[in-house]
Amino acid sequence: MNTSNSHALFLRAQRSIPGGVNSPVRAFRSVGIDPIFLKRGEDAHVWDADGNKYIDYVGSWGPLILGHSHPKVVEAIQKQASIATSFGAPTELEIELAELVKELMPSIDLLRMTSSGTEATMSALRLARGFTGREKIIKFEGCYHGHGDSFLIKAGSGALTLGAQSSPGVTQGTAKDTMNANFNDLPSVENLISANRGEIAAIIVEPIAHNSPSILPAEGFLEGLRAICDGYGTLLIFDEIITGFRHALGGYQAICGVTPDLSTFAKAIANGYPMAAVAGRRVLLERLNTTAAGDVTFAGTYNGGAISMAAALATIDVLETEPVHEHLFRLGDRMRDGLRSIAADLDVPAVVSGYGSLYVMLFMEGPLESYDDVVRNDRELFVAYRQELVRRGVLEMPENIGRNHIMFSHTDADIDTALEVSQAALTATLRRRGHRT
Ligand code: PMP
Repeated sequence: MNTSNSHALFLRAQRSIPGGVNSPVRAFRSVGIDPIFLKRGEDAHVWDADGNKYIDYVGSWGPLILGHSHPKVVEAIQKQASIATSFGAPTELEIELAELVKELMPSIDLLRMTSSGTEATMSALRLARGFTGREKIIKFEGCYHGHGDSFLIKAGSGALTLGAQSSPGVTQGTAKDTMNANFNDLPSVENLISANRGEIAAIIVEPIAHNSPSILPAEGFLEGLRAICDGYGTLLIFDEIITGFRHALGGYQAICGVTPDLSTFAKAIANGYPMAAVAGRRVLLERLNTTAAGDVTFAGTYNGGAISMAAALATIDVLETEPVHEHLFRLGDRMRDGLRSIAADLDVPAVVSGYGSLYVMLFMEGPLESYDDVVRNDRELFVAYRQELVRRGVLEMPENIGRNHIMFSHTDADIDTALEVSQAALTATLRRRGHRT
């Protein structure tokens, strides 16, 4: 495969953009190759700067639930663009979207919109802290909530109360206020919260730990978090930035039956347009500073921007009127089952993790129950396999353990092709490593 144009663009990009990319993982460093520069997308396919065509399982990292340039979304944004792109003033479009989301999710009385997932999670934390008057939060190892300072804290060296900064530039003060528990481990949460009684504003969790990748909540785990939060006057925040709208119109909260105090949404809500939201109970959201009672700051020039509103309304309309989730779950099952058979036929230990339209194959013995288990993934094999997939026209996430995304525009034929390519790629990779196949 000729990727000389991508290579030249990468060299050029590095002269004006740090590392040549605007978000670090896009550099494909975890896959050990130069980034592929993309030029065009259509349905479930993308073309790179050299004209190579790929089946796309990155899906813009989650937003493209319907696929590239879905005609109904394109029509809605073109129509809106010809009227106005952005006002910085309230619009009826925002009300329509807010009313729609409220109807879909009973936990939501009010929502405030913004542009990115990071802004949503960061603001949800500020709101939780403002409301409770407490400063500390608990998050989970392996969950990702964006690049807000409070989230760039990893577990410290055994101390119950002290995290460690995972990025230079994050202050020790922030580290002191962020604690890490283990996903699916209620005692680890109970220990932290009882040692910091009256100090924990919120527990924030991805209800499925898709960044770990795709570890499902054990039976009773989310219910247990709800009960702990109720017991300690702590708020429960579901980060539904991946799960929301992707798994069900009512979010994962509709599937698991656990009601959070606050939720955050982004990605699939607008099929690729910058749109995110913090949502939840009236008494909480009313603290945001446009109401008489409000005092917690949460602002933004692009919040509720007209193009994003039009995109979200059109996306939700398709999700409501076409059998999107049924298609996504069916193709997801096909992909996961197919990958499991390929690994079994080739006699290579593998865990195929995922839920609904998300999947990832890790090369390790099971079970995969917590982020710690991921260390058993054979990284060398994983990297070589993903490189081989790219060379053969299947684009998966350029991330260490990243889950991949199936879109509504993927067809059964796209799954068949991806499975054939996966089989060939894994066979070739194993042969090169001297594995008899
Ligand atoms: N929360 C979750 C669960 C995410 O996966 C991400 C991004 N992958 C974010 C928050 C941050 O969203 P954004 O990249 O839009 O800031």
